[in-house]
Amino acid sequence: MTGNNNVVPLITEQQIRERITVLAKEIAAGAGKDIMVVSLLKGSFMFTADLIRSLHGAGVKTQVDFMTLSSYGKGTTSSGTITVNRDLSEDVSGKMVLIVDDILESGRTIDFARKLVMGCGAKDVKVAVLLEKPGKLAVEVTADFIGFTIEDKFVVGYGLDYANHYRELPFVGVVVSSDAA
Ligand code: 5GP
Ligand code: MG
Repeated sequence: MTGNNNVVPLITEQQIRERITVLAKEIAAGAGKDIMVVSLLKGSFMFTADLIRSLHGAGVKTQVDFMTLSSYGKGTTSSGTITVNRDLSEDVSGKMVLIVDDILESGRTIDFARKLVMGCGAKDVKVAVLLEKPGKLAVEVTADFIGFTIEDKFVVGYGLDYANHYRELPFVGVVVSSDAA
């Protein structure tokens, strides 16, 4: 694995790849073969790219759209208020929508996105997240498909950032020093 002195790996590149292959089969079985993927930027771009390729391998046709929601600003704790920075650009009405996000923590982001997409007339909405931190929910929401459940540590890599750094890492890890940022 390509290392980074400031980040201790928690989930390896290979673990991610293997899990996504299985996840795609779970999604194909649970959400059908024709899906409108709504990827929440920026954190889920890498997960989404790998997931839709695995969905293709699992016989699922996808369309893709992106939304940017923010709750964190530049810090590492949620402010609790969600803002739409970039809205949907595709018509989701009547479609099976899969919201894809990087991590489910308080649940506010997913709850907000799910309601927004339902409000646009989606036939059904399911949620896939790469990571879940249990016990931190502030609103009642669940993900239908979860890559990995992790302990309560701030993680970066594989699309997830700290102040917009570390997104390029091919693994998920914990920052031990912020020298590089
Ligand atoms: P929630 O709205 O569920 O509290 O938070 C979800 C969002 O918070 C995620 O989409 C992600 O952007 C951010 N977030 C939560 N935990 C972490 C973390 O450990 N690392 C990073 N980089 N972002 C996180
Ligand atoms: Mg996010």
